[in-house]
Amino acid sequence: MRRLWRQLTRTLLDAVMPPACAACGEPAVTLCDPCRRNLALRPAGCLRCGEPTTPAGVCTASHAALTHVRQLMAPFRFVGTAGRLVRRFKLDGNAAAGQLLARAMADCCRHQGPDGRALLVAVPLHRARRRRRGFDQALWLARAVATRLGLRVASGVLVRCRATRPQGDALVLSRAENVRGAFVVRLPEAVAGRVVVLLDDVFTTGATARTCAKLLRQAGAREVVVLVACRS
Ligand SMILES: [Zn+2]
Ligand SMILES: [Zn+2]
Repeated sequence: MRRLWRQLTRTLLDAVMPPACAACGEPAVTLCDPCRRNLALRPAGCLRCGEPTTPAGVCTASHAALTHVRQLMAPFRFVGTAGRLVRRFKLDGNAAAGQLLARAMADCCRHQGPDGRALLVAVPLHRARRRRRGFDQALWLARAVATRLGLRVASGVLVRCRATRPQGDALVLSRAENVRGAFVVRLPEAVAGRVVVLLDDVFTTGATARTCAKLLRQAGAREVVVLVACRS
């Protein structure tokens, strides 16, 4: 009931408020000029990790964070306007910020992503955290991206069976340890033989993405590519 009320007030506020910049809230349509200037799209680089390559097209970055992951796609780095958009979307539930991120993610996937009909799977949020936050940001982004690309979101395939601490938490000594055993694939038949696009809002160390990708591959997914709004 409380969530419904919060959504209703949000919708009403959106309807009566003048258009505001999705990143800073100043009056503007979509983004104000300073925020737009601060929104740097990442130039296309290495096909695997997206980092810039040498003039000869060689990637010198480590791909250790991408074990089990075929490719990492991220339109933005987690700085400036893009970082602000993620925070406003995730913490304030700002839908305009979410739509901007989803649009960039969909464009990125369209240009660099796998061919054919991939299956979208969102990194699941634990029930308790979803209740606190009021919504599941990765699933929200997955649905918005799916609509833009005409793809399907497979929900309930990958589930979180144990709550983990937020990966940035000071008490998390090992990010890999924090997510070990936290996920399970419930419907392996849904991913068997498929190319899976695993979605989340941010990619930092990649511990969560790696864990989920490993489970999806073990469940029979042909390959797993990761699509996030921002990478650190
Ligand atoms: Zn702004
Ligand atoms: Zn690379």
